[in-house]
Amino acid sequence: MNVLLVGVGLIGGSFSLALKHRTDLTFGGYDNREEAQNEAFDLGIISQRFNLLSEGIKWADLIVVSVPVKAIRGILPEILDQIEPNQTIVDFGSTKAAICASVADHENRKQFIAGHPIAGTEHSGPSAAFEGLFRDKNLILCDTRLTEPGKLKDFEALATDAGFNIIHMDSKEHDRHLAYISHLSHITSFALSSAVLQKEKDGEVILDLAGSGFASTVRLAKSSPGMWSSIFMENKEMVLRSIEAYKKELEKLEALIIENQDEALEKYLEDGRKIRRILP
Ligand code: NAP
Repeated sequence: MNVLLVGVGLIGGSFSLALKHRTDLTFGGYDNREEAQNEAFDLGIISQRFNLLSEGIKWADLIVVSVPVKAIRGILPEILDQIEPNQTIVDFGSTKAAICASVADHENRKQFIAGHPIAGTEHSGPSAAFEGLFRDKNLILCDTRLTEPGKLKDFEALATDAGFNIIHMDSKEHDRHLAYISHLSHITSFALSSAVLQKEKDGEVILDLAGSGFASTVRLAKSSPGMWSSIFMENKEMVLRSIEAYKKELEKLEALIIENQDEALEKYLEDGRKIRRILP
């Protein structure tokens, strides 16, 4: 089976590496960046390079789209326009509602599977890809009632072989949950990094005084700005709601400190600490 990776970076690259043991699969790649395409070839992520997306589409049985979410929305209808009935297309973008809406009325919608791997790192590009990224991680598949059952079953078997556990969810529900659990964490990390960089202009001081707490809280701010600005804008409504909820909590905390409410402050922190029960 021929698998075309549209986007050969961290996510597309790791999908290929996770399936290296499958000698029946040949991976090809199409990427905006020629450099990335060549790097993926050198790293053994792909064995075929396509300069034109249309050439790759003709060659593929399965097309896996792993480019920034705004670009996915642009590219998906174009791919669906060109595919034959035997072909399947999957996307691995981090937001799902706008992507699903962009192809909802397409005549080939039943050949599309909307996915989001709950796995990643703050690094990007083919060199960041690794074989075990998806091992025992969840792959959320959205609005699967709109996909042809046979194509869905075949892809789920392949994704399971790549290490994923499959979860089904409505695309709007997905975006609501992810706004709080993932997107807000990135927003707070980028904002924390900016606040510290504005006040502490001496990088040496940050390096000398930063403990593991600061390093782990600010880690997500090392992520790709292009990818994350695209995610925040694609899930704008839910992201703004999550920021509002977070601002309210910051204001509560601020008031407790201003008003010297020591006991209430300790109780507030105790409540927040309950996250230990869920994430030991
Ligand atoms: P990545 O490492 O930056 O790889 C994406 C590649 O796609 C880049 O080489 C990029 O080139 C290329 N590209 C951009 N627009 C394109 C287009 N229109 N056509 C062809 N290639 C294009 O990014 P990634 O981390 O793999 O993320 C890919 C997708 O997975 C995103 O939708 C993201 O939301 C999702 N995702 C990411 C994570 C994570 O932790 N990273 C986790 C789950 C899901 P340029 O550099 O020139 O833009």
